[in-house]
Amino acid sequence: MQTLLPLALEGVGTRSIEALSSYICRLATIHGTKPGELLTHLAHGTDNSLRLLRGLRAQTYSALVRPNTTTEAVVKLIARGHAESHQNLERGTFLHLRQTLARAQGTYSNQIRWCPGCFHEQLLDQGHAYLKLSWFLVAVSVCDIHRIALRDCCPHCGHEPKPWRGWTSFEQCPHCEGRLDLITSSDTKILDSEPAACDLVDLVGEIACATQPFPAGKANRYIAHRFEEAWQQEREQELWKKLPRDECLRYQLDGEPITLAVARRLAYRLEIPIADLLRGGATSNRAFGFASAVPLPTSMQSAHRNGSIDSAVLVKQLRLLLDPASEPLSLREIARRLNVSVGAMRYHAPLAVAKLAERYKRHQRVARMEKQSAAVSAVLDGIRNWHLSETAPIANKTLLKRLMKTTGLPKEVLRKAIKDYRR
Ligand SMILES: [Zn+2]
Ligand SMILES: [Zn+2]
Repeated sequence: MQTLLPLALEGVGTRSIEALSSYICRLATIHGTKPGELLTHLAHGTDNSLRLLRGLRAQTYSALVRPNTTTEAVVKLIARGHAESHQNLERGTFLHLRQTLARAQGTYSNQIRWCPGCFHEQLLDQGHAYLKLSWFLVAVSVCDIHRIALRDCCPHCGHEPKPWRGWTSFEQCPHCEGRLDLITSSDTKILDSEPAACDLVDLVGEIACATQPFPAGKANRYIAHRFEEAWQQEREQELWKKLPRDECLRYQLDGEPITLAVARRLAYRLEIPIADLLRGGATSNRAFGFASAVPLPTSMQSAHRNGSIDSAVLVKQLRLLLDPASEPLSLREIARRLNVSVGAMRYHAPLAVAKLAERYKRHQRVARMEKQSAAVSAVLDGIRNWHLSETAPIANKTLLKRLMKTTGLPKEVLRKAIKDYRR
C-alpha cells in the first residue's frame, strides 16, 4: 500500500466544498507528479487496476466527480493512501446521489470551469485556489457569489487547461502562465439569479456534510404522499396547479426514475430544498406548501411532455396496439411514440399495459429462439463449406467474422453456436 502526504480537502461542510478532481491535481503537485501518473502509481498492483485505468483513460478529467464506479474506485484508492478520509473524499464528488437519481446526459460538465473572483478570495484565505464541486454541474453557469459567468478557458491565451497533464496552481494558466484569479473586462456581471442555480449549490452544501448517500426511491414516495394528502383533502386541483397532474402521477410511482433536472423541478414546485425531496421530506416541516404563485423558471421547464393526458384516448390507443396485426413494441417505445411516460400509461391503463408488456416479452422470447436456431444452421453450413474456400484448418475467429458478415446475426449468438458445436 502506498502512503501519501496528508492533504485536506477544502471547504468540507460548506457549499464551497472542493471537487475531487481539484483535490487530485493538488495532491499530485505536492507529490511532484501529474494526476494521471499519481493515479497510475496508486493503482499499481491493486485488484481491478487495469479496469480502473482503462475507465479513467476513457473519460474526461472533469468526469472525476461523477457518481460512477470509476469515481468510487479513485476515492478508495486515495483514502487507502491516508491523504484524506474516505468520507471527505466522497463529499468532494456526486457519489452520494448515485442511488437516488437516474443518470442523464448533460448533468455534469465536460469542461473544467472556474470563477476568477472565487480563485482570488481562495488565494487570500487559503494561499491557493481550488475548483468547487458545484462548478461541475452544467446548470450552474454563473458564480453564486460574484455573479459572473464561470470561465472554461484562459482570458489571455484562450487555452482550456488539461489537468491530466498537470496544473500546478489553479490561479495560473498552465499554458501561458497568465493569472486566472483576476476579474477582467471580459467578465460581465450577470444580474439574473437563475444561471447561478442556488438550489443546486445548496444541494452541494448538503453533500458537503452528508454522512451517508441519499436513499433510493424516497422522492417518489414523497410525491405519492403529497398526492395522497391533497386527495384526502380534496385539493388535487390546487396541487396540480403547481405540479401538473401527469408529472405528479408519473413520479409518485415507485421506481419511476428521477434525474437531477426533474428533482430540481419537483422540489421547486413543491417548495422544498432538493436534498429534502431526495430524503423523502424527512427534515421538511412545511405542510402543503405548493400554493406559491411564482412560475417555474425557464431553465427548469421540461423539454417535452407538457401537455395533459386524455385518459380515455390513451386507453383506446393502447388497446389498438394489442391488435395481433400490430407490431409488438416495448413499453418505452410505446411511451415515446405516444409522447407520454411509462408511469402515466401504467396509471391510466394498468390492464392494457400489463398485456402489452407480456406480449412484447413473448415476442422477444420467440425472436431470440429464432436467432439461436438460425445461428446453429449457419454454423453447420459454415463448417461444412469451410474447405471450399480455405486451405487452413477451421479457425473460430475467422468463422465468426465470416458468419457475422453473411448472416447479420448478433456476435454473441453466433459465438455461442460455434462454441456449442466445437465442444
Ligand atoms: Zn465567484
Ligand atoms: Zn493562458
